[in-house]
Amino acid sequence: MEISFGHDYSDTNRHLCESEMKGDWVVFTCPKCRGYEKRYNLKTEEMRVKGNEDFDIFHDGQYFPPEMQDMPERSLN
Ligand SMILES: [Zn+2]
Repeated sequence: MEISFGHDYSDTNRHLCESEMKGDWVVFTCPKCRGYEKRYNLKTEEMRVKGNEDFDIFHDGQYFPPEMQDMPERSLN
C-alpha cells in the first residue's frame, strides 16, 4: 500500500513531507513549513490540512507501512 497526493509541480516548489502513523491517521508534516500538517485517515479516507497551505508549493507525501520498510533481506542460502 502506498499513499501519495498532489499534482505535477516543478521540483523547486516541491516539499517532501515526513509521515508518521497516529492511530488511523497518517500525519504528514513539512520540515520547511512550520505548522503545516496534512493528515489522511486510512479508514474513512478523510483528508485534513492544518496550518497555512501555500498553494504555490506542492507538498509531496508518501507513507509506507512499517511492514514494508522492514522487509527481511532474503538470502540465497
Ligand atoms: Zn512545505
